[in-house]
Amino acid sequence: MDARGKYALVAVPAPLQEPLTYAVPEALAGRLQAGMRVLVPLGRRRVTGVVVGFQRESPVAGVKEVSEALDDEVLFDRAFLDLCRWAADYYVASLGEMLATALPPLLRTESRVVAAFAADPESFHGDLDREVLDALRKRGPLTPAALGRLFPRRGVKSALDRLAAAGAVTLGERLRGHVREARRRKAARPERAAETAVPGAAPVLTREQQRVLGSMEARLRDGGFETLLLHGVTGSGKTEVYLQAMERVRSRGLQSLVLVPEIALTPQLLDRLEARFPGDVAVLHSRLTGAERWRQWWRIAQGLARVVVGARSAVFAPARALGLIVVDEEHDYSYKQEEGVRYHGRDLAVVRGRIVGCPVILGSATPSVESYHNARSGRYRMLELTERVEARPMPAVEIVDLKSRPGQAAGEKLFSEPLLRALRENHEQGLQSLIFLNRRGFASFLQCWACGFVVQCPRCSISLTYHLGRHSAFCHHCDFRQRKPDACPGCGNLSLSEVGAGTERVEHELRRLLPKARIGRMDRDTTGPRGAQERIFRSWEKGELDILVGTQMVAKGHDVGGVTLVGVILADSSLNLPDFRAVEKTFQIISQVAGRAGRALRPGRVIVQTLVPGHYCFGPARGHDYPAFFATETEFRRELGYPPFQHLVHLRIDGADGDKVARSARDLARDLRRREAREPVEILGPAPAPIARLRNRYRWQILLKGANRPALLAAARRAVALMPRGRAARIHVDVDPYNML
Ligand SMILES: [Zn+2]
Ligand SMILES: [Zn+2]
Repeated sequence: MDARGKYALVAVPAPLQEPLTYAVPEALAGRLQAGMRVLVPLGRRRVTGVVVGFQRESPVAGVKEVSEALDDEVLFDRAFLDLCRWAADYYVASLGEMLATALPPLLRTESRVVAAFAADPESFHGDLDREVLDALRKRGPLTPAALGRLFPRRGVKSALDRLAAAGAVTLGERLRGHVREARRRKAARPERAAETAVPGAAPVLTREQQRVLGSMEARLRDGGFETLLLHGVTGSGKTEVYLQAMERVRSRGLQSLVLVPEIALTPQLLDRLEARFPGDVAVLHSRLTGAERWRQWWRIAQGLARVVVGARSAVFAPARALGLIVVDEEHDYSYKQEEGVRYHGRDLAVVRGRIVGCPVILGSATPSVESYHNARSGRYRMLELTERVEARPMPAVEIVDLKSRPGQAAGEKLFSEPLLRALRENHEQGLQSLIFLNRRGFASFLQCWACGFVVQCPRCSISLTYHLGRHSAFCHHCDFRQRKPDACPGCGNLSLSEVGAGTERVEHELRRLLPKARIGRMDRDTTGPRGAQERIFRSWEKGELDILVGTQMVAKGHDVGGVTLVGVILADSSLNLPDFRAVEKTFQIISQVAGRAGRALRPGRVIVQTLVPGHYCFGPARGHDYPAFFATETEFRRELGYPPFQHLVHLRIDGADGDKVARSARDLARDLRRREAREPVEILGPAPAPIARLRNRYRWQILLKGANRPALLAAARRAVALMPRGRAARIHVDVDPYNML
C-alpha cells in the first residue's frame, strides 16, 4: 500500500483550520488516493470531503471511518490541491471551505441522496414532481428510498428522472453514471474532434502585435512561469494576441484557460473563440445548470476541451495540461469574490501559473495600479500595444463643466448643451451613441422638501432608489420593495421629490428629447431574464438601436463599428465613493467607455460631464495617458500608505444585535492591539461600516494595514481565533479588499 497510510486526511466544507483524520476501511485500502472525493461522517451528518493526504498513525484514538469513496479515479491533481491550499492559507479560510468554493455545486452534494436546487416548483407540471421538490426543499437531502416511503406507490423514480433532467435536483448515483457514460464516449471516439477541426482564419497582425507575440514566443514554446502584463489601448487588438498565443500552446497539445469579467458581457469573444477553435471550447459560467456544469468540468478534466473560458471561478477549472492562462480586462472588479472566501480570480490565476509552471497574460487598456506597479518594478514583464488596429485614431475626449451651467448642477437637466447637440447631430447622420451612467433606477432617492425626510430601507441603512416603470422604490442591496408613498411619512406633505438620476431617468429623458431615436437600455433591471442581455447587445450590434443607455455593463469590451459618440452623464458618481480606489475606478470607466467609440472607419467623440473638471483623473483621461494617471495616483497611494505600497485586511463584524456587535468589535480591536504592539501592523478602528446596517444585521469594521504581508495575515488569523464562537457576532475576513462599504 505504498506511501498511503491507514488514515486519510479529509478536507470537509466547514470552517475548520485543519483537515480531519478518518480511518480507511479495509475495503478501500490501497484504492483511495489524494484528490478523490469521499463521504465522511461529520457530527450527525454525512458530508462530501476531499482526501488531501494520508498518515500512518492517528493523532487521536477512535477516529471515525470513511463511509464511502465517491470517485473511482483522482478528480483533482496535485496542482489543483496546491492551489486550494495556497488560497485557503492566504485568504484565511480552511482548506475545506476553499474546496467548497472551488468545486461546482454538483460535486459538493452527498452521494446517493437527492438534493433540491433552487428551482421554482411552479415550473413543473406534474403534481408529484412538485411535491417531491417541495419535500426536498423542506427536509433537505433524502435518499430515493426515503422519498419512496414518503410517496408510496407513486412512481418517485421517474419523477426524480424528470427533475434531474431539468437540473432541479442532483442525484448521487446519477452523477457517477454520468461519469461512466462520458468515459465510454471518450473511449469510443478514436480521434479528438479538436484535432480534425480547421481553425478560423487569423487576421493579419499589426507590427505591434507581431512584436508582442514575438517577445512571448520562447515562453509559449518552452513553458515556465512568467506573468506578462499586456497593456494595450482600447481597439489595439489584444484579443488577437491572446488567440494566437493560445494557438501556439494548443499546437503543443496543452490547454489554455481564459478568464473574462462576466461571460454574458463577452458574446463577441465567445464567438471568436468558437470560430477559431471549433468544438474545442468549454465555457464555465454561473448560469449553467448543475448537470451542464458537471459536463463541462468533465470535458476539461479529461482534456476534451483545450480552450477553457469562464468568469472568476473558472480559475479553479480542472485543467491538468495547462500551458497558458489569460486574464482579460485584468483590472475588472468582478474578479473579486465578495461572499464566502473572498478570493481574487486574477491574483489566483497568477498563483496557479506559478504552481503549474506556465505563462500568465494579464491584459487591459487600463491596468490595475497593482499590476502596473508590478510590471514597473520588474515582477511582471510589460508588453505594450500603443496604437489602434488599422491606424484608427483614439477618440477625442471633451470634459464639460456642469458647474457653469445653471440647472444642471442641481440635476434638473441631465444633458448639457454640447452633449445634447452632439447626440442630435449623431442621430441625424444615422450613427450610434452610447450613454453611460453608473447608477440604475429613475431617482437615487425620494425626499420631502418640507421636512427633509428620505425614504429608507427598513432593513438597511440605505435610501431606496425609485424605479418609475415599476412604481416602486427598491433597496439595491437587499431588494426590499415598497410602493412610492402618497405622502411624506414624516410630516404628511403630499409630494415627495425624486432626487438624483439613474439610467431609467436618462432613457426617459432621451425619449422626450429625441422622440424619433430608437433607444435601448442595458442595466441589471433590463437584463434579468435569461438571454435578455445578449438580445439587447445583438440588436445594438446590428444597428437596430440608435442610442444605448447603460451602467458599467456597456463599458466592457464589445466592439460595435457604428458607435461614434459616447456620453458620460456624471463622472462624479464614482469619483465620490468612500473608497481609496474611487479615482482609479473613474479613470478606468471613462477610458473603457470611451474605448467603445470610433472602432470602425469614423473617428469617435467622447463627452464627459462633471462638477469637478479640474480633478487629476480628467487630464490623463483626455490624453489617453495611462502612465500620467499612474504617476499621480501612486503618489497619493504612497503618501497614504495604500496598496500597492502597503497591504490591507478588512475585518467585518456583524450580527443582529447592534450593541453586541459594537461590543465585540471593540473587544476584538483592544485584544488585537495588545498583541500586535510590537508587530508592524497598524490597526484602524473599530468603526461602524459605511453601510452600518444591511439586511437587518449591524456591521462594524476593523482595518489592518501594513507593508509586511506575513505579519498582516498572522494578525488576521489571530483576529479569527480571538473572536468568541457564538451567534451574537460573526467575523468576515477580506484580504486585499475591494469593497469596504
Ligand atoms: Zn416631510
Ligand atoms: Zn435593504
